[in-house]
Amino acid sequence: MKCNSGKINTWQRALIDTVTKPKELLELLNLDMSLLPAAEKAATLFPLKVPRNFIARMEKGNPCDPLLLQVLPIHAELQEVPGYTSDPLQEASFNPIPGLLHKYHGRVLMTLASACGINCRYCFRRFFPYEENNPGSMGWQKALNYIEKDSSIAEVILSGGDPLMATDQTINSIKDSLATFPHIKRLRIHSRMPIVLPDRITPELIAAITHPKLKTILVVHCNHPRELNTDIRKAMQQLSQAGVTLLNQSVLLKGINDDANTLIELSEALFDAGIQPYYLHALDKVQGAAHFDLAHQQALQLHEKISAHLSGYLVPKLVYEQPGASGKMPVKA
Ligand SMILES: *Cc1c(COP(=O)(O)O)cnc(C)c1O
Ligand code: SF4
Repeated sequence: MKCNSGKINTWQRALIDTVTKPKELLELLNLDMSLLPAAEKAATLFPLKVPRNFIARMEKGNPCDPLLLQVLPIHAELQEVPGYTSDPLQEASFNPIPGLLHKYHGRVLMTLASACGINCRYCFRRFFPYEENNPGSMGWQKALNYIEKDSSIAEVILSGGDPLMATDQTINSIKDSLATFPHIKRLRIHSRMPIVLPDRITPELIAAITHPKLKTILVVHCNHPRELNTDIRKAMQQLSQAGVTLLNQSVLLKGINDDANTLIELSEALFDAGIQPYYLHALDKVQGAAHFDLAHQQALQLHEKISAHLSGYLVPKLVYEQPGASGKMPVKA
């Protein structure tokens, strides 16, 4: 029997099939089961979630694989470290209405979806109250009314969670509304999905994020050159042909990309894939992620090294977020 209702796409199927059990992840990668108790314990604080497609890019038998370290819950997450809190950005206080963050001039951020395609252990949103903050499809009207009334807003940023967890229809209808507001010039999407699940980029999605009256910018999130593969390069080509500007933001992570050669290779590989390096973020001081953090002094030294080796346009800006600031702050000595 064939049913058309409830038709699901390849990417939705891949999400359903995502690995969420630490034991399965360790088995798939032939890793030592001695890692399991800590992984299971840390996963109770923030669940393990990683698409098989991303696991396929990890090296089997290597517990220090830079992709694995971004997703494997470990014992260090359980330690409370002074200065690392559950809401490092104090975002709770910048919510004019649920689902909308208006912190910076000219731009608003809509938290479009509550979940992500992957759970990154270093994420500053590991404690963010997504569920309360997600108005759902009916609630978007309030956010759109706010945007319509404020003509100082030129750019709307779809964020999350991961905004590309939303359906093409949701994204398309929000875009169509935004396109009717004369002051909105740009639609920007911040998503890690194109990297962890490149199947998400379909002709339907490209149609949903583009509009003749808007410039579309897609900011992907890639931390290590080994994350990039042929599927991603193909997807980026399709986006680029549709006129979408492609940028990348990375998070500087101890043990993963905190050496100059990796960062240089990352910038080169991104540009080869048609993606312009944009930001290199110093870690937000979220509880459970202290083991990924680097002192600003070390971050600066790394940034100086890569700046000396790369063409200017391949050097991402080294920034951090300070609650209450009117934009991302450059890391300074
Ligand atoms: C990061 C961020 C932006 C975008 O900042 P850009 O410097 O323009 O990339 C906008 N709003 C909020 C709330 C943000 O956190
Ligand atoms: S994809 Fe982005 S928002 Fe989602 S868990 Fe990873 S870092 Fe956080």
